[in-house]
Amino acid sequence: MTAIGFIGLGVMGGPMAANLVKAGFEVTGFNRSPEKVQRLVDAGGRGAASAADAAEGADVVVTMLPDSPDVEAVLLGDGGVLDGLAPGTVLVDMSTIRPDVARSLAAAGAARGVGVLDAPVSGGEQGAIDATLSIMVGGEASTFEAARPVLDAVGRTIVHVGPPGAGQTVKAANQLIVAGTLQLVAEALVFLDAHGVDRSRAVEVLAGGLAGSAVLDRKAAAMLGRNFRPGFRVDLHHKDLGIVTAAAREAGVAIPAGSLAATLMGALRAQGHGDLDHGALLLQVEQLSGRSPEE
Ligand code: NAD
Repeated sequence: MTAIGFIGLGVMGGPMAANLVKAGFEVTGFNRSPEKVQRLVDAGGRGAASAADAAEGADVVVTMLPDSPDVEAVLLGDGGVLDGLAPGTVLVDMSTIRPDVARSLAAAGAARGVGVLDAPVSGGEQGAIDATLSIMVGGEASTFEAARPVLDAVGRTIVHVGPPGAGQTVKAANQLIVAGTLQLVAEALVFLDAHGVDRSRAVEVLAGGLAGSAVLDRKAAAMLGRNFRPGFRVDLHHKDLGIVTAAAREAGVAIPAGSLAATLMGALRAQGHGDLDHGALLLQVEQLSGRSPEE
């Protein structure tokens, strides 16, 4: 049995850790807010009092934290987890962070004999619950093979995309596509409403044609039901679009539609909606169109 230390038990990490327990791994978890640790214990895992405790004696350490500074603080900071890991341990960071930070983590791990993968995911909360996530993995091939059983227990489409940082680069592309598509879905829903069309029927037929997408399938119903409970928080997508725009600039690539999507996500956040699901882009299109849902 592989012992797993799991750090960050939020919307995604909570169900992922529970699925690892279901798959037969011995999972010890830590989260900053203790009630989330209790949920893992209720699911059959063990609770730890600190990130270092969760990692102690683990064969594989998984992190699922919000942003680059969180990952750096937990792994590299004073009393950081990496220092305490035995050579041969595998560290899999599944958070969405900057590719350059992923590369530094891999280098810091290599200096200690610890194999590090950047393995961000796509598929949302439902994908985490159903263990059907898409996982884009950067790192050494041998480390990927070592971590494969752990990844298999939480994901369905798992691809080794290249060296350290490559997983995060692919995830940035993912977030570019999702933000642009979601904005257009929001615009289409307001447009349909303004023309008095039954939107549920419209979505049903759109889903079967070229306009169909996983974004439409998984987000439109909640948007129509005005359910903006996250899911994926606007704050996190704003963070990801910062990664996208910086990485595009670094590579000299023009992303005009992506830049607009980033501005719109930032504006939604600036209006105080950072804690809502990113489907709340709908609210902003309604506001820009001078429409309230009652109209
Ligand atoms: P979340 O905010 O729900 O979970 C993060 C968890 O980390 C929280 O429970 C928080 O308490 C904990 N945490 C923060 N700092 C910590 C620390 N120093 N020590 C211990 N615990 C700490 O976020 P999430 O939605 O689960 O997302 C996690 C990552 O996965 C992010 O990078 C996000 O961009 C990415 N992601 C999210 C989704 C989604 O749909 N929610 C989908 C794909 C990828």
